[in-house]
Amino acid sequence: MTTRTAVVTGASSGIGAATARALAADGWRVVLGARRIDRLEALAGELGGLALHLDVTDPQSVAAFASRVERCDLLVNNAGGALGTASVADADDAEWLRMFEMNVMGTLRVTRALLPAIVASGDGIVVTIGSIAAREPYRGGAGYNAAKHAVAAMTRVLRIELGGQPVRVSQIDPGMVETEFSVVRFGGDEQRAAALYERMDPLTAEDIAETVRWIASLPSHVNIDSMLVMPRDQTSAQVVHRHE
Ligand code: NAP
Repeated sequence: MTTRTAVVTGASSGIGAATARALAADGWRVVLGARRIDRLEALAGELGGLALHLDVTDPQSVAAFASRVERCDLLVNNAGGALGTASVADADDAEWLRMFEMNVMGTLRVTRALLPAIVASGDGIVVTIGSIAAREPYRGGAGYNAAKHAVAAMTRVLRIELGGQPVRVSQIDPGMVETEFSVVRFGGDEQRAAALYERMDPLTAEDIAETVRWIASLPSHVNIDSMLVMPRDQTSAQVVHRHE
């Protein structure tokens, strides 16, 4: 039997790297994409997978990446993130455009490029990592909320468009996960990022990786359309219980 292949974008850190590990442990061959190729190569070496440079904001990079993917049974659209916490009144166009490029256009480009291979697999799965920000607007979230809401809309449309084809489409919406996400969001301010997770137990990248692994392990007729996963200490986008 040929080994099923999972393509994971944004596999150089956090949820993507953990997902690659979880899938490889479950018997998947993994193809890893991100910009930090040194990290990808180290992980691919460990997992026996393939590391390929990928910048989802660059159409040529996506095309080159897709041309190297010979088989795709599972696509994990994970590359993405937030930039800043500016209000609508103070919104910075460049920051918003980067968030849309990274999350919305990136997910579109990679999905569109790999869709023929996913359909051809005869039993394909597309799992997109959305966010609680795709469901719940919050103060300081405007640009990221808008981008992740767009990702959610596109994911639902894709599910409708693929009706009758042998492809499942899922979106996982995590709440607070301690990764490099907040360091990136706060422009490298590690102290500000660490303060977010003080006196609460956030999710780990491995927690979300396990949901991807589980979804992909289900029988072909079962489609988990969407899943909201939060830490016990978080009850909505901005309500977090801090321990004494
Ligand atoms: P992370 O540790 O910062 O990982 C983000 C990944 O995306 C990195 O591997 C990064 O790789 C990749 N990436 C960023 N821009 C890219 C680009 N232009 N082209 C290709 N890859 C790119 O954060 P994370 O928490 O694991 O985030 C993964 C996903 O989960 C994101 O979509 C994020 O929005 C979502 N999410 C995170 C949380 C959270 O609390 N952490 C909550 C909800 C949703 P390179 O920099 O090497 O390219």
